[in-house]
Amino acid sequence: MSKFKGKKVLIVGFGLSGVAAARYMTKQGAKVTVTDMKQKSELQASVNACADLKLEYELGKHNNKTFHTAELIVVSPGVPLNIKPLEEAREKNIPITGEIELAAGELEQPLIAITGTNGKTTTTILVGEMFAADAKLAYVGGNIGKPLLDFVNDEHKAEAVIAELSSFQLDITEKITPAAAVFTNLEEDHLDRYPDMHAYSQSKKRLLKACDRNTFVVLNYDDPNVARFAEETAGRVIWFTKRDPMLIGGTFAENFCGCYYRPATREIVARVTGKEEIFSLQQFRLFGDHNRENLMAATAVALAMGVSPKAIQSVINSFRGVPHRLEFVRRKDGVYFFNDSKATNVMSVRKSLEAFAASPIILIAGGKDKNQEFTPIGNLIRNKCKILILLGESKEKINRSIGDFAETYLVGTFEEAVLLAYQKSRTGDIILLSPGCSSQDLFRNFEERGDYFKKIVSQL
Ligand code: ADP
Repeated sequence: MSKFKGKKVLIVGFGLSGVAAARYMTKQGAKVTVTDMKQKSELQASVNACADLKLEYELGKHNNKTFHTAELIVVSPGVPLNIKPLEEAREKNIPITGEIELAAGELEQPLIAITGTNGKTTTTILVGEMFAADAKLAYVGGNIGKPLLDFVNDEHKAEAVIAELSSFQLDITEKITPAAAVFTNLEEDHLDRYPDMHAYSQSKKRLLKACDRNTFVVLNYDDPNVARFAEETAGRVIWFTKRDPMLIGGTFAENFCGCYYRPATREIVARVTGKEEIFSLQQFRLFGDHNRENLMAATAVALAMGVSPKAIQSVINSFRGVPHRLEFVRRKDGVYFFNDSKATNVMSVRKSLEAFAASPIILIAGGKDKNQEFTPIGNLIRNKCKILILLGESKEKINRSIGDFAETYLVGTFEEAVLLAYQKSRTGDIILLSPGCSSQDLFRNFEERGDYFKKIVSQL
C-alpha cells in the first residue's frame, strides 16, 4: 500500500510539475489540495489537464490553515520557499518536498542528474542523444519542461533517467542518490531569489551531498567554484577541461580521469573507461567554447554510464543544437541574426559574445532584473559590440553599468529593438539577442521571447 494513501497532501504551485504531482498523489490515494496565487483563469491549462482527478482547489490565494493542517506539502520549483505559509509549515515540522524527490524515490533506473548555472539543457539533451544513438532507451526530463514524475505516472520504460535539475528544484530535494551528477559551472545567478552567491552555491551543493561513493561526479576543472567540489564529494570524480592535463601537471596529470580538449587537432581526448578514446570535432556544428564544455561534460558522463564511443561520435557529427541557445536564425543583406533568448544571466551573455571571433556585434539585451552586475562584461562589450540596444525593466540599470562601452540606445518595445538593430547594421554584422535577464517583464518565458524575435526577423 502506498505510504501516501489517505494522507492530506497540499500541492503548492500549479504549473507542469504541480500537475504531475497532483496526478501522482491522486494515484497514490492521497487527499489532494492544490493552491496557487494565480487565478483559475490563468491556470486553465493545468485545470484542464487534471479534469479527470478529484482535487480540492484554493486558487488566487494561499489559505494558511490548509498549510498548517497538511501532512505533506509538495512545492513547485517556481514558488519561493520563504513565503510565509511555507515558513510556518516548516516551523510546525510539516514535511516539504518536490516532484523530483518523489520521482527519484520510485526510480529503479540509474539517475543521471545535470546541474550548473549554464549549459544544463544543452548538456542534458546531448547525453540523451548519446544514449539514443547507442539504442539505450532513456527518459530525459526535469527542468527542461518534462516533469520526472510523468515518467512514473505514465509508466514509461527506460534503462536510465537523465534529469536537468535547477537550483530551485534542488532546494526542495532531500534524498536522492544519483548514479551520476554533472556540474557544468557555477556563477552569479538568481540573486533575486538567493540572498547571495554563497546561498546559491549551497543549493547546488545539495546535489553534491546526495552523491555516494559509487556516484560518478563530473566536474568542470576550469571553473574554480566547481573544481572545489572535488574535495567535498564521496563520489568518483571525472573531470572535463579545456586544458591539456599534462600542462597542469602533478598528480592531476598522472591520475587524470576525464575529458580534455586538444585545439590543434580539434579533438576531445577522453580517459574515462581505462581506455583512451579520441573524438573528432571536425563536424561539430555548435560554436563557442561553452558548447565544447557542454560536449565534454556530456561525453564524460555518457562514457562513464557505458555509452559506446561510436554512438558519442555520431551525436557529435549530427547534433544541431537546441532552439534559443545561440540559434542561427537568418542571413539578410549580409547580416547574421542569432537568437540566444535563453541567455538569462550575465555569464551566458559573456560566453555568447566570446563565441563570435571577429565580426562586429549589435547586441540586444535587457529584460527582467535579477539583481546582477553587468560591469564584468564591460570590456568584452567594448571589444566585440559596435552597438548596444537595451530594453525592458533593467535597461536603465544596464545602461549605467555598461552603456559607455558601445554606442547605446534605450528603446521602449521589443519590435523597436529589432528594427533599430537592423537599421544600424551593415554587411558582415551580427545581430545577437542575448538578453542576460529573464523574460517575464514582457513575455511569458524565454521561448516566447525567442519565437517573437524570430518572427520579427523573418518578416524583415
Ligand atoms: P541552462 O539550461 O543551464 O540555462 P542552456 O543549455 O539552456 O543552459 O544554455 C543557456 C544559455 O547559456 C545559452 O544560450 C548560452 O548563452 C549559455 N551557455 C550554454 N552553455 C554554457 C556553458 N557551458 N557555460 C556558460 N554559458 C553557457
